[in-house]
Amino acid sequence: MTTATGPTAVTGTEAGAAVALADGAPLERGRARLQQALTVRFEAAAAGTARVPAPLVVPLGAADVLGFGLPDPYAALRPRANVQLTARAVLVGPWGGADTGTAACGQCLAMRWQRLRSRSEREALELGHQPHGAADWPLLTDYAVDAVWAAHLAVHTGRSTPPATGAPDRELPQVTRIDLGTLAAATFPLLPEPLCPSCVPPRPDTADAARMDLVATPKPDPDGYRLRPLGAYPLPTAALANPVCGTLGSDTWINPTSTTTAPVAGTNFVRGYAGLNDVTWSGQANSYSTSRTLAYLEGLERYAGTHRRRGTSPVVDSYNNLAADALNPADRGFYADDTYEKDHLVSPFDPDRPIPWVWGHSLRDERPILIPARLAHYSAGVDADNFVFECSNGCATGGSLEEAILFGLLELIERDAFLLAWYGRAHLTEIDLGSCTGDAIRTMLDRAALHGYDVHAFDTRMDLAVPVVTALAVRRDGGLGTLSFSAAAGFDPEGTVDAALSEVLTYIPHLPYQVAEREGELREMAADYRKVLHLKDHAQLYGLPEMARHAREYLEPTAVRPLEETYADWAPRRPRTGDLLDDLRLLRDELAGAGYDVIAVDQTTPEQRRMGLHTVSTLVPGLLPLDFGWTRQRALLMPRLRTALRVAGRRPDDLPESAIKAVPHPFP
Ligand SMILES: [Zn+2]
Repeated sequence: MTTATGPTAVTGTEAGAAVALADGAPLERGRARLQQALTVRFEAAAAGTARVPAPLVVPLGAADVLGFGLPDPYAALRPRANVQLTARAVLVGPWGGADTGTAACGQCLAMRWQRLRSRSEREALELGHQPHGAADWPLLTDYAVDAVWAAHLAVHTGRSTPPATGAPDRELPQVTRIDLGTLAAATFPLLPEPLCPSCVPPRPDTADAARMDLVATPKPDPDGYRLRPLGAYPLPTAALANPVCGTLGSDTWINPTSTTTAPVAGTNFVRGYAGLNDVTWSGQANSYSTSRTLAYLEGLERYAGTHRRRGTSPVVDSYNNLAADALNPADRGFYADDTYEKDHLVSPFDPDRPIPWVWGHSLRDERPILIPARLAHYSAGVDADNFVFECSNGCATGGSLEEAILFGLLELIERDAFLLAWYGRAHLTEIDLGSCTGDAIRTMLDRAALHGYDVHAFDTRMDLAVPVVTALAVRRDGGLGTLSFSAAAGFDPEGTVDAALSEVLTYIPHLPYQVAEREGELREMAADYRKVLHLKDHAQLYGLPEMARHAREYLEPTAVRPLEETYADWAPRRPRTGDLLDDLRLLRDELAGAGYDVIAVDQTTPEQRRMGLHTVSTLVPGLLPLDFGWTRQRALLMPRLRTALRVAGRRPDDLPESAIKAVPHPFP
């Protein structure tokens, strides 16, 4: 007689309680039948030689497992479950996985599975509806039960090995899906779920844990700013995208019709304060494999940025009680009073109202500082803190905290300068692209020309020393898709031009079609800016020929100068020490010198830590924040919009209210 290992079989009491809660549902009837049939086989096998865990079956797909809707009747059993029955398939596992740091449970699997369901399935589960299953499905034939039992035996006796080819995927727990229609079996790796209440009991967020000791960070190349090549990160690509339990989505897809880049993208739904958001992640390089890696990195960055996934519970208190240790949300800007009156999704900030906060680190003051959770994680939010909608502006990923913060700050500087130039009607110097030495820029200009566009680049630096470049593509015949903007900030002037141009090149093949598709809608926006609501509206609005008149400062530049001359004053200031920390210190000192705090919040998830990746949200309260939607433009009210052009030497005086360009920005 051998003894079974692992989870024990479901007890009479547990099953009874579950059945009472899910009475009569076809999935529950199927669960009971599968449990009974597997238990018979298990008992027969246990009398022989097989040493496998007792099968513990729970249904999946008729109850919310993410904690949004009605309570999950199987919540107590699910972490130990090793067989989960859905309407269409049976999931066997998690099984396998390296011994250290990879454990995942049945609840982890269920949460990842539910996130990949369709919008309608998720809304049904997560908005508290009572499910009513179809009549006689799932169909559990004896063949199906045999297939599930065979898989259960195979995966727990070492006869089944992970099919994924990469080591990072093979080390992870695996899940085998048996399709009930075809009995086809397929196995996918599962990353442990950091929000799993069974595996990760939340601990309080603390100041000490947020403290960042930034260290010397030698660079492979003094003029490079990435510590490791893209391919050096051990990404478990099969765990990141698969149809059963993919962390970032079900799949990736390529777009072979793009003639300027080789794009790869993926998508998933993330529940935010305004419902389910379609979060797309993509890479746009010159080869599909590079684009795919970039897409995964962007997907992970969004995954880390949308919600806090670090196993911590936030500090909850009012600003007035926390003021000594907290960022004043007013410094980050609010909307106009009129917006708070008319926009039912937002309410004015109340310093007496308790809201959730997370700890970040001030690089200027070298101390921990509390940040409203909503400003650090842009899909997080509760009714009490709906004073602003934040976006991913300032979030970045790197091979170290220092690298991630550097790129986050560069993004903030880029968007601030872009908005200052636009709203402040700055007269910009055009960069003579013929003076750039690399082939890449010449090639991009040629590719744009094939699409009927001329591309221009402008020096957009304001009062901060680091180069900022705006790129503008202009359709030669003036047709739909007239103007397309993008921007970049960076230490290497030509690299920055390259980055801005690369981005604008990803937009122009599609822009004329996108604008043609929405022409009527966009014309209504042009007549009434309050109809500009979403991210895409801003850029597509400038696809209308009649909007080009608002871009006069770009179309009629004050001068055209060679690149080297444009950034001549930057060359002696640019650190070339080979230590990334020196580059980061320059940015910190520039921003602190201009009067701003420099804050980083570590967003790195446990999944990213395994891969050697770090993600941060950087905040520089006082810089112009990037917002989408015309009635939600904090930038228009920021003191910096009045002063920065003068400080930068671009105007003799503060910008008067009458000179502000009251037209939506075209940032893509
Ligand atoms: Zn778990």
